[in-house]
Amino acid sequence: MTVSPNMRSVAATDRSIEAACEYLAAGELVGVPTETVYGLAANALDESAVRKIFAAKGRPDNNPLIVHLPDVAAMRQVVRWPLDPVVMDQFEAIADLWPGPLTIVLPRSERLPDAVTAGQATVAVRIPSHPVMQQLLRRSGLPLAAPSANRSKYVSPTTAQHVVDGLGDRVSMVLDGGACTIGLESTIVALGEQPRLLRPGAITAETLATRWNIPVESLLPVDQRPVVLEAPGMMLQHYSPRTPLLFADPSASVPAGRVGRIAFEPLSPEESKTFAVVRVLSDTGDLNRVGQHLFAAMRELDAMGLDAIVTDTCAAEGVGRAIMDRLKRAACRE
Ligand code: AMP
Ligand code: MG
Repeated sequence: MTVSPNMRSVAATDRSIEAACEYLAAGELVGVPTETVYGLAANALDESAVRKIFAAKGRPDNNPLIVHLPDVAAMRQVVRWPLDPVVMDQFEAIADLWPGPLTIVLPRSERLPDAVTAGQATVAVRIPSHPVMQQLLRRSGLPLAAPSANRSKYVSPTTAQHVVDGLGDRVSMVLDGGACTIGLESTIVALGEQPRLLRPGAITAETLATRWNIPVESLLPVDQRPVVLEAPGMMLQHYSPRTPLLFADPSASVPAGRVGRIAFEPLSPEESKTFAVVRVLSDTGDLNRVGQHLFAAMRELDAMGLDAIVTDTCAAEGVGRAIMDRLKRAACRE
């Protein structure tokens, strides 16, 4: 973790948002709050600014970025317009889920620098609901390319401090808009002949399938795990803490050493005692709460020098599909 001694986040106010707009217009990077996770933002129309994102994150340049917009009207800046009629119908059936934690992959405009889309013919766009991000998008008038504000492959940030911890010496400013309310990266869906779920999130596959009147299964990759780097968020190892992460198994013994425990609901006192530290993510096992606090718990326990972290699991449906997706990637060591 690179902590820059001088770097601090700045509370989001009219003035600090104005300062962030100036940095962005000048081609610099700003850490920004969204409802999903914190983003590392740059002007999506400025190729050299976009390249700084890849350099700061250590992100491979074949992994395209999500472009954030204030509203549907702004889509014309980055999307090839008009959409073809089939895609337009699919889009209209889900457009009311914006602003929110949903990213839609559509044909790109020629204006967009290749660096944003990793040379692909499509662009991923999102209209976030976070009021600070909304204000920043409107005031700057810029489409903002913003992947998660973490070093590539590490756990996504859900507080301004997480951004400072990981990228503090590589950004001009971090705007603090509070802890993220969703806490998991956006759902990504690609529209086309047949819509496809590229990454599960808080807007569930079930919700999308209902809107399109299709079975959930038809949205999912054939083997649930594409091997092609179509959405490199799907690269298998991703979002990982450095400490080995294991799934709780009641029939197995607790691993040796100092072990941390991530619990989705309160543990019995006897079970708690077997761990060096326990973080309970929800009083009632509410998976939205679990999603909200999961990454912060992973980061906190990862910083404690434990021998292992054991986590609860859940059924991979609804928001649980996104939680299990992130946990499987975090547990994977290849
Ligand atoms: P991040 O914002 O760090 O969560 O990363 C953005 C995610 O969006 C990655 O998983 C990308 O692969 C995905 N993405 C961005 N643009 C596209 C695109 N044109 N087609 C498919 N996936 C995309
Ligand atoms: Mg990311």
